[in-house]
Amino acid sequence: MKIDAEFALNDSNYLNHGKIFVISAPSGAGKTTLVGLLKKRFPLLAESVSCTTRKPRGHEVDGIDYFFLSKEDFFKKREAGLFAEWAEVHGNFYGTPLDFLRKQLDSGKDIICDIDYQGAINIKKAFPKEAVLILVLPPSMEELESRLRLRATDDPEVIKTRLHNAKNEILHYPHFDFVVVNKDLNAAAAQLSAIISAHTDSSIFHNLETIRKLTE
Ligand code: 5GP
Repeated sequence: MKIDAEFALNDSNYLNHGKIFVISAPSGAGKTTLVGLLKKRFPLLAESVSCTTRKPRGHEVDGIDYFFLSKEDFFKKREAGLFAEWAEVHGNFYGTPLDFLRKQLDSGKDIICDIDYQGAINIKKAFPKEAVLILVLPPSMEELESRLRLRATDDPEVIKTRLHNAKNEILHYPHFDFVVVNKDLNAAAAQLSAIISAHTDSSIFHNLETIRKLTE
């Protein structure tokens, strides 16, 4: 097979190709811990900070964990088209700032977003080339239930609702590019790292300089 190296090197598909890694999971699947591990493993990933109308939890800091907004301010931003996507999750509103995504992508950076399945689907619509959607799942409903109970942050009624919501979230799996089952934390982190590496370190875009030198 003849490969047109000049064509490959000039192909605009490979240019300016920052990725948006969207990680979604039912509550209790271990997403927060996994995203924390990924941020350590890939310190250059830019983390998108969402806006929310939810009240801050004890340790949370405005501008770091979320931008905490009143409903009025959130709706104003939404109407002004400042969100790449927004959704109502467990009775609160959440939105991903569009400007941040654009700026990071324009400077060739990769982004990680921790958002729900509705947001994931809409990010893919807004950024079809850049978005890589990853669904993190628990190994079983029994395991999810026991993790939610162990967490002891929610009362039994809330746990029941979360389990019910989990089924609905999981049924949206066809929209996702990858599914990672979090049975063992290290194994799940390794799978997620492999997905990210395949789209960054091992991508054609990241290796163009080496390819150029090798084909001079
Ligand atoms: P929590 O309030 O527990 O931090 O997050 C609740 C849910 O909202 C999680 O599933 C989280 O992934 C999701 N979420 C956080 N930020 C956003 C966002 O900007 N957009 C969407 N669609 N979901 C979000």
